[in-house]
Amino acid sequence: MAEPKLTVTKDAVVTVDYTLTLEDGEVVESTQGGMPLRFLAGNGEILPVLEDALMSLSVGDELNIVIDPQDGYGEYDEEAFEEVPLDSFPANETLEPGMPVGVEDSSGEVFEAYVSEVRADTVVLDFNHPLAGETLHFKVKVIDARPATAEELAHGHVHDEDGHHHH
Ligand code: ZN
Repeated sequence: MAEPKLTVTKDAVVTVDYTLTLEDGEVVESTQGGMPLRFLAGNGEILPVLEDALMSLSVGDELNIVIDPQDGYGEYDEEAFEEVPLDSFPANETLEPGMPVGVEDSSGEVFEAYVSEVRADTVVLDFNHPLAGETLHFKVKVIDARPATAEELAHGHVHDEDGHHHH
């Protein structure tokens, strides 16, 4: 008797192997040789276009999808730079180009930015995502799917098999 096929649906805990390649062939992310990616489907943990394409796939299925920048990490914005005083960072923090930093605006909302340039008294921050402007080629294989537990649904994220949180 055949087991029921496990499929990707909203609120399923889905495990995938994936490789993300850019237009020029550079591999920027891959689970090959490492931990597969697990996420709670339908909860905004991965790119919406990618999630939509994965919906209703079964364990063992593979997906190849090309995602335009506007559906990926946005178009590259040449205006999305800001120069901030160097002393707004902790003195013991060594700032290097490419480093991600959290920047809080006046309303307390935190944005992720990247150090673009460190000057004498200021730091130039780049608010573009590192993959902004890139066409994304995802190759994904579904390796597991299971219903989420009530606790996982309440928290909106996946818990480890042993029930431990990883927040
Ligand atoms: Zn939790």
